[in-house]
Amino acid sequence: MIRRRVTILGSTGSVGCSTLDLMDQAETAGSGAFEVEVLTGGANVARLVEQARRWKPRLAVIADEAQLSELRDALAGTGVEAAAGEAAIVEAATRSVDWIMAAIVGSAGLRSAWAAAATGATLALANKESLVCCGPALLERVKRSGGRVIPVDSEHSAIFQVFPHDAPEQVARLVLTASGGPFRRATRAEMAGITPEQAVAHPNWSMGAKISVDSATMANKGLEAIEAAYLFDVPAQRIDIVVHPESIIHSLVEYVDGSTLAQMGPPDMKTPIACALAWPDRLAWPAPRLDLAALGRLTFEAPDEERFPALKLARQALVAGGAAPIVFNAANEVAALAFLDRRLSFLNIASVVADTLSSVTAPGVDSGSDGACDAALAVDAQARRAANGIIRDLAAAA
Ligand code: NAD
Ligand code: MG
Repeated sequence: MIRRRVTILGSTGSVGCSTLDLMDQAETAGSGAFEVEVLTGGANVARLVEQARRWKPRLAVIADEAQLSELRDALAGTGVEAAAGEAAIVEAATRSVDWIMAAIVGSAGLRSAWAAAATGATLALANKESLVCCGPALLERVKRSGGRVIPVDSEHSAIFQVFPHDAPEQVARLVLTASGGPFRRATRAEMAGITPEQAVAHPNWSMGAKISVDSATMANKGLEAIEAAYLFDVPAQRIDIVVHPESIIHSLVEYVDGSTLAQMGPPDMKTPIACALAWPDRLAWPAPRLDLAALGRLTFEAPDEERFPALKLARQALVAGGAAPIVFNAANEVAALAFLDRRLSFLNIASVVADTLSSVTAPGVDSGSDGACDAALAVDAQARRAANGIIRDLAAAA
């Protein structure tokens, strides 16, 4: 029986809800028992209230301060304390627990992940943007606190499960699989008219809006290559990407002797979350099971960096190092949200990222420094301003 006292940052999102759902199923299956310290949401107060009533955390925090009184009223008499605002989320992340899920989307999740990294808890890291912005410093901070990071992103969970942690020199190459997203076969001309509705309709995975757009542009795989380089300390030249539309093989580790180990499963985020929740144990829950005979075959193809330039830009940012990954992440986030708001066309997402990367010069972040998070957020803010300016210029020219 797995017992854990847990905090979930971003509990109202796709990963957050899947985490609670899985905890519920594990409790029903008799394989887990969970006490919740903190739940946090961004703006969906109704969902946060529903979760708080079910799980009775010590504290529920909503990022949107305008909704504090609604949260407080709805939780009156339940014994659950209510709070609001970013500072309250960061404070909540410092509380002592066994396990913290960092599932806030975007660089908004960086400060709380940074706070969680110093607690000594196991940090289940879904917020890939914080790794991309601050990876080496964040990992160092977790190590110093006596905690550990368990990746939640399905590709990194896969690599984590087959990686020789005690002998990393045995690794020749990491291979990240990519579904290719909803526009795998689209020409550049067809991509010109893509709408937000089309972009968020992912063929295999059900996810939040921002990561769905990232999957459609394949910026997500670019972010994941950077994430993998930091998590497993493997250079860009030894990280490859292969498109695998069925999303059954979640990633692979090639060893120096030519042997390659892969992790497989139906595409359901609850499986990597379960892995993070119980590691090094395994959590029994009624998971969807792999039926290879029913699948018949698995297919693979090389990624196309011409149609998906975000892949190339991410690799260049990783190789350039310094602040470039932070700039890539910030520009991509601003551009993806502008696309969702219909202020930017699909094809211009990557153009904005490219132009921001070439216009912003900023110092890198010292990975051993306690100020690394602040330094990364300063670069993030600078890159956001530049990206927003580029988007405004594009709109004015149109
Ligand atoms: P989502 O949009 O569904 O949920 C995001 C969560 O963050 C919500 O709880 C939201 O309320 C909260 N939030 C948003 N803005 C906030 C702010 N400014 N301050 C505080 N909280 C805020 O996103 P998601 O799909 O669950 O993704 C979460 C993270 O996990 C992302 O970094 C994503 O890249 C990563 N991830 C997600 C999946 C997936 O299948 N959804 C897979 C791999 C990795
Ligand atoms: Mg992923």
